[in-house]
Amino acid sequence: MSVADDKFHELAAPGVRRLQPYQPGKPVAELEREYGIRDAIKLASNENPFGPSPLAVAAAQAVLQDMARYPEGSGHLLAQRLAEKHGLPRECITLGNGSNDVLDLIARVFLTPGHSAVYSEYAFAVYPIAVQAVGAEARVAPAHDGSRGPAYGHDLEAMLERVDSATRLVFIANPNNPTGTWLVEAELEDFIASLPAHVMVVVDEAYFEYVAHANYPDTSRWLERFPNLIVTRTFSKAYGLAGLRVGYALSHPGVANLLNRVRHPFNVNLVAQAAALAALDDHDHLDMSIRRNHEGMFQLLTGLSRLGLDSIESAGNFLTLDTGRPGLEVYNALLQEGVIVRPLANYGMPRHLRVTIGSTAENTRFLEAQEKVLA
Ligand code: PMP
Repeated sequence: MSVADDKFHELAAPGVRRLQPYQPGKPVAELEREYGIRDAIKLASNENPFGPSPLAVAAAQAVLQDMARYPEGSGHLLAQRLAEKHGLPRECITLGNGSNDVLDLIARVFLTPGHSAVYSEYAFAVYPIAVQAVGAEARVAPAHDGSRGPAYGHDLEAMLERVDSATRLVFIANPNNPTGTWLVEAELEDFIASLPAHVMVVVDEAYFEYVAHANYPDTSRWLERFPNLIVTRTFSKAYGLAGLRVGYALSHPGVANLLNRVRHPFNVNLVAQAAALAALDDHDHLDMSIRRNHEGMFQLLTGLSRLGLDSIESAGNFLTLDTGRPGLEVYNALLQEGVIVRPLANYGMPRHLRVTIGSTAENTRFLEAQEKVLA
């Protein structure tokens, strides 16, 4: 039995036939097993290098004994707490098994094979998967080339040009992964205001907490004004809960109602609900994670410029650098040094690598490995 000679391919939905699976970062244990090395580090999945809040760990441990029971299907306490945090009614919250899950729910609610979704070149890899899985048409707008906006960033004008009567969704990652590029308040506001009412706009704010720029918008405050707006957030990044899978959407209650119709019951598990709730109370851990990310960003930028390497200015907890040679070669050489980063050929960026900002020691280790590999 092999995948190559299977007949199931022809039976699959056309959209699924064209899909490539999402490529996650290589796990440390896998690298150590394959290469027979120890003490490898992973800077490949934009996780929080400082771990979860101790409050979240304690809360998770405290509910483990209840695991024979289903969690609260609606995640009531967590949803209520998120509603308070954002100053919105509880009815505006949809919980997801990571924000990936929410992106998928959105595609399933609004797209059919007769519809299209618009997103940018170099945008987060889950958008094509969510769109194609439901058989809808993906319209990819070329990113900025650097002449009218930040190179590799979303070109909102080009995106708007691709919207027509069949378009139901526009995905915007702000900041975007893997480029780290971001949109400022005025341009995003104008863009959303200019969309026709039949188009829902998803603003994916997975890295929201890390962004330090003054004119970076908090679009959760725009929901009253733009009923067609859906904002997605996650506990996977600054909150350090990637392994538990918790994300959520903020939207008009009518939209949340639709998302809840296709949401799997109990999609956010018992432990994840408890940990996320506790994580929201640990402001110190969140602040520390953000502050140390900015220090780490400075450390990496300084180190990379010393090595003569260019990177794309990033507002997230990662940096995408131009290796000036085939990125896969550099990636493989870094693996030999026990450093896992992310190659970006599948994003159409064959020379680039994405590196997550790690702890000071991890950043040093990456820079030393990079220097050795380039020498
Ligand atoms: N959006 C963006 C832009 C991301 O980079 C990621 C994670 N890589 C996600 C959404 C999904 O994250 P999660 O499902 O862990 O919330």
